[in-house]
Amino acid sequence: MAKPPPSLMDKVVSLCKRRGFIFQASEIYGGIGNTYDYGPLGVELKRRVKDAWWSRVVTRRSDIVGLDSAIIQNPRVWEVSGHVGGFADPLIDCKVCKQRFRADHLEDARCPDKPSKKPGEHHCELTEPRSFNLMFKTHIGPVEESGNVAYLRPETAQGIFLNFLNVMQSARLKPPFGIAQIGKSFRNEITPGNFVFRTREFEQAEMEFFVPPAENERWYEFWRKERFQWYVDLGIRPEKLRLREHEASELAHYSTATADVEYEYPFGWGELEGIACRTDYDLKAHSEGSGTDLVYFDPQTRERYTPYVIEPAGGVDRMGLTFLIDAYAEEELEKENRIVLRFHPEIAPTTVGVFPLVKKDGMPEKARELEEELRTSGFTCFYDEKAAIGRRYRRQDEVGTPYCVTIDGDTLTEGTVTIRDRDSMAQDKVKFDEVCAFIQEQIRNYKVAPTG
Ligand code: ATP
Repeated sequence: MAKPPPSLMDKVVSLCKRRGFIFQASEIYGGIGNTYDYGPLGVELKRRVKDAWWSRVVTRRSDIVGLDSAIIQNPRVWEVSGHVGGFADPLIDCKVCKQRFRADHLEDARCPDKPSKKPGEHHCELTEPRSFNLMFKTHIGPVEESGNVAYLRPETAQGIFLNFLNVMQSARLKPPFGIAQIGKSFRNEITPGNFVFRTREFEQAEMEFFVPPAENERWYEFWRKERFQWYVDLGIRPEKLRLREHEASELAHYSTATADVEYEYPFGWGELEGIACRTDYDLKAHSEGSGTDLVYFDPQTRERYTPYVIEPAGGVDRMGLTFLIDAYAEEELEKENRIVLRFHPEIAPTTVGVFPLVKKDGMPEKARELEEELRTSGFTCFYDEKAAIGRRYRRQDEVGTPYCVTIDGDTLTEGTVTIRDRDSMAQDKVKFDEVCAFIQEQIRNYKVAPTG
């Protein structure tokens, strides 16, 4: 039987390995279940995604500040937050194939012995759903006793609640205000999968926005729209995105309303980010649990209250994967096909490719000079003098570099270079001294390509 053609997901995974975005972790030892390492371009992509998030959520606003809290906190934190008791996925075991499935994902799961069927539809023997705690446990100090148990944080949010007073007082803030954090979280997921969509170790970008209770609705509306729009502004095709309001039965114990920004992945619609009304649940729970009153006192109105919280919480790895999948395109050109990642320039891991047309006549020296200038101006660059110029363009298309500058004969005689645009493949002649300004201008005016 002929092998089926690779799916979009297969193509993205293979490109990620081939070009150095994402590798299997511990690969030379056979890997370790669904854990990945980011290579040179992957690190750069992830850094760009985090910078774009931070810029929009923190730098551009006067009412939100940052935090970097510890991964290991006092274990009481996770008892009080409800994670020790309740942070569990309902799981079903199959006694025949010995696989585990999430009870709430059974519809999308496949029987490993007969992939055309769902678990339960073949010769399966399924158990009743059982609860499984998702937190990774460790021990503090040299002795592994139950009294020394600590947990790796399963979300960054709790570190923010713990520092509510510290941050509010030191930064002299009053509600409405937000605290943002990007950092690693850990969950002992039972059914990880779909590449970096669900892993056991991942990065989260979370923000807790503290508001007077009466302003809860207004800010919930604001953050749902704002977070959706961020993805659109960075080039994700709007028709592949939707905002889905949770049914009452889906809501977490702390939430009165939640909406997910979902993306249509090759494996179906999936959560990219959640925007949740967490009410005053966490601050009240930690006030009670710690004996420290986590409230706001308004000196003007003499009012004392526990703020409500709106939380946009996204996964950085999922964001990166989404940008990769959404950017991936194969195009038929006159003479050949090309693979191109149509990243928004703000997200692209390399911004500028710098090429001498040939490896002689002083062109490499001029190209190196330009590369140095671009790097000093803050652009990520890739210098390439190998292979024909067409091949070099294709290689940069495949990793999504939006601009390539070629130093040619005219550079030496007229002082101009050729700048080639990844999307239109159009080439502009630009003065050598104006390359930085030209590229800055292009990025500023970048329009997300119309979709079709
Ligand atoms: P899911 O339903 O997919 O398990 P969740 O609702 O438990 O996700 P949250 O607790 O709301 O997720 O976490 C916020 C964000 O963190 C998610 O929207 C997702 O982008 C990311 N995230 C959560 N779990 C993982 C994971 N195991 N791997 C990668 N990213 C994750």
